[in-house]
Amino acid sequence: MSEVRHNWTKEEILDIYNRPMMELLYDAATIHREQHDPNVVQVSTLLSVKTGGCSEDCGYCPQAARYHTGVEGNDLMTVNQVKAQALRAKEGGSSRVCMGAAWRNVKDGPEFDQVLEMVRGINKLDMEVCCTLGMLTENQAQRLAEAGLYAYNHNLDSSEEYYKEVISTRGYQDRLDTIDNVRKTNVTVCSGGIIGMGEDIEDRAGMLVALSTLSPQPESTPINALVAVEGTPLEEEKPVSIWEMVRMVATTRIVLPETQVRLSAGRTQMSREGQAMCFFAGANSIFAGDKLLTTPNPDVNEDMKMFELLGMNPQKPFTKKVQPQSVEASDSKFESLGEKPKWTRPEHKIDRNEAAKAKGKLVK
Ligand code: SF4
Repeated sequence: MSEVRHNWTKEEILDIYNRPMMELLYDAATIHREQHDPNVVQVSTLLSVKTGGCSEDCGYCPQAARYHTGVEGNDLMTVNQVKAQALRAKEGGSSRVCMGAAWRNVKDGPEFDQVLEMVRGINKLDMEVCCTLGMLTENQAQRLAEAGLYAYNHNLDSSEEYYKEVISTRGYQDRLDTIDNVRKTNVTVCSGGIIGMGEDIEDRAGMLVALSTLSPQPESTPINALVAVEGTPLEEEKPVSIWEMVRMVATTRIVLPETQVRLSAGRTQMSREGQAMCFFAGANSIFAGDKLLTTPNPDVNEDMKMFELLGMNPQKPFTKKVQPQSVEASDSKFESLGEKPKWTRPEHKIDRNEAAKAKGKLVK
């Protein structure tokens, strides 16, 4: 049985990534079978509960207010709207709803209280609830846990070195601190990254070093292929090849043996054969739904047809961990503290981000 190691070096990970393809696939598939049922795929639906207008400068993101990308923003959805969408996702075969809000960090107040109600509402539908809301304090993480949150997503995106080439409005340590705050609760951690942002293979390995040294390792890790959106600083990046994706998935599977590895953004560019290779290499989760926040995603029915073709089944909710209990707001032990945490703002200049911002200003 493969052991979970927290001391992977970049060199070891690079050696794995660069193995001859058939050996890499065999090794990854072997570990995958030791730890997981290879015919079961966890299906999540990503729901953008608050879109656009974000103050951050993430180079890959069409929701950053400073770039002009044509994304139409919306205010925070109502609890009933979210519950209705969650129900639709459940009927479509999803076991988890991941709610994304385009925020730099969570702020105590009515909007966060509304999100806590959404968490309670979805947990009561017997679905796993995940949130991705930006940076988070320990008290905020505790409040989400009390409401019945199953997972919190906070991606490391890339290596620490390359992160500085993509984002200037917050630091890598902020990401790690938020993950640490989630770890102080019983909420599971979802953290991964994006390939195809112009990083080199060392950066991909560097990200996997950072993820593997987390203890415990994340329960789920999304591997995104950049969807280059016009108007963002990364609009000119070429799509990653399926071979790079397969290598990244397989390497992630070997380094994070117990983690659910999720195919995320970029799946529309992948053929069924390509996705099947990724499943063989150890991917065992996907995002379903026609949109991933703001970028396109395969049709739910197409995914179900693909599962049928491959003899795969969607994972039932709470297979890996028992369902959390939702504590009502009136019985909460963790009150709003009205926190205004000072997360860092390195604000170093990234030329392509500056150029996209200037272009955005002109268009607006
Ligand atoms: S990735 Fe998140 S934090 Fe970054 S700009 Fe987009 S919505 Fe904002």
